[in-house]
Amino acid sequence: MAATRAADIVPLRTDFCQLIEGELLAGTPTLDVINPATGAVFARAPRASRADLDRAVSAARRAFDGWRASSYAQRRATLERFCESLRAQQDSLAELLTREQGKPLTQSREEILRAASLSNGMTAIPIEPELLVDDAQRRIELHYLPLGVIGVITPWNAPINLAVGPLTMALYTGNTVILKPSPYTPLATLKLGELLQTAFPAGVVNVLAGGDDCGQWMSEHPGIDKISFTGSVESGKRVMASAAATLKRVTLELGGNDAAIVLEDVDPQAIAAKLFFAAFVNSGQVCMAIKRIYAHERIFEPLCAALAAEARKACLGDGLLPATQFGPLQNRMQYERVLGILEDSRRRGGQLFAGAERPAGDGYFISPTIVTQLPEDARLVAEEQFGPLLPVQRFSDIEDAIHRANDTRFGLAASVWSRDLERAFGIALRLEAGTVWINQHRATAANVPFGGIKQSGIGRNYSELGLKGNMEARVISLLKG
Ligand code: NAD
Repeated sequence: MAATRAADIVPLRTDFCQLIEGELLAGTPTLDVINPATGAVFARAPRASRADLDRAVSAARRAFDGWRASSYAQRRATLERFCESLRAQQDSLAELLTREQGKPLTQSREEILRAASLSNGMTAIPIEPELLVDDAQRRIELHYLPLGVIGVITPWNAPINLAVGPLTMALYTGNTVILKPSPYTPLATLKLGELLQTAFPAGVVNVLAGGDDCGQWMSEHPGIDKISFTGSVESGKRVMASAAATLKRVTLELGGNDAAIVLEDVDPQAIAAKLFFAAFVNSGQVCMAIKRIYAHERIFEPLCAALAAEARKACLGDGLLPATQFGPLQNRMQYERVLGILEDSRRRGGQLFAGAERPAGDGYFISPTIVTQLPEDARLVAEEQFGPLLPVQRFSDIEDAIHRANDTRFGLAASVWSRDLERAFGIALRLEAGTVWINQHRATAANVPFGGIKQSGIGRNYSELGLKGNMEARVISLLKG
């Protein structure tokens, strides 16, 4: 592990504007943005006031009639133009994303390109009226209408991808949007605002940089018809409570505690790198990362050894350096939380196989760490760690493994690893999660719905199902003759 850093002596950047009613507004830069690799403030962004939000909502409401009257083909073409500009600006956006979020530069670029490709994939999906009945007496059709103004609220772990997905779903289906990123990572999203300004008519998309308070104002706002929220379970509950007063629609993409069940017939050497990547990419700060492994006792020791070998190879450091594979935790609060979970793991008798190193300096670094021998109620097993610590739990009876995998309030995703595909499929059918992968983890696509069951969320993103979550159904029922 090489915990090297890039020198980060750059002038404070303040060249960030909010986008309201087609205008880029500089405002007073009061929101400090920290580079998590150094712990230092490197930029300051404007911070949305309630008046900014009111103005953005009025603009989005005014723009709605014109935007919904446009055709799917026109909206697809506009979104495609925006995605082209996203690809063209990938270098400067990726650099900014790495500075504010911490992930390695190559992964920032991948996030941007993936966002563009998922957007293109979703706008290729046709939304047509459905013919329900057509007989001698009646013709009944089901039509889909846009909802109105949609508030998109995003977290700090993948700010571009988690903005462009919901933005595309809302805009393609004819809605107008207010987008608000996390106060920890507002910068790349504000730069998206500049690209959106060029591509879209004034008011159709508005981008605000605000704190949690701004998210709450959006959830309460009578001029917003739906909140498309991605973030923690706790904030998701608050959004739903605030949205209740106006009966706003909500899509909630929340946290997970994904279990991977590894059966006795696998070759641990062959799958260790895949499991490791699915658990530790973005230093574990991925909603659908593997967060618990249940390994059969017959392959438990060699699997732990192979995972530990991966951990020892991991190159940790400033995401701007080309050799870096794993960056820091994104913010101090999360860093301290993960350190608290590590401390709890030690107290509860966990054996640390590799990692748990904290390089010197002020960055929020923790190296990838494999932990075994924890009780099921230890924090690392029971909570969403959202950091580079992975518990590997032993099982001998598959019924027990299924029970432990399901024994959680989360239900985002899960995976089963085996050479026996039929057996793995049978186990997948019994796992309580919105997605269950077999011999893979963290595979999503534009035409496949993604979302959680239980407390991991409400509604789905991507696919026809996700698009229709931004629409209202209307029945037209005609009595013939
Ligand atoms: P968070 O809930 O703290 O914040 C997310 C966003 O919500 C931010 O923009 C924040 O300002 C806003 N917010 C906070 N309080 C609010 C309130 N009361 N009303 C409205 N908005 C409010 O989450 P985070 O720490 O930024 O992100 C990490 C969490 O996100 C993890 O739990 C992770 O699993 C989850 N996540 C889920 C998915 C998914 O698709 N299911 C994807 C990525 C992240």
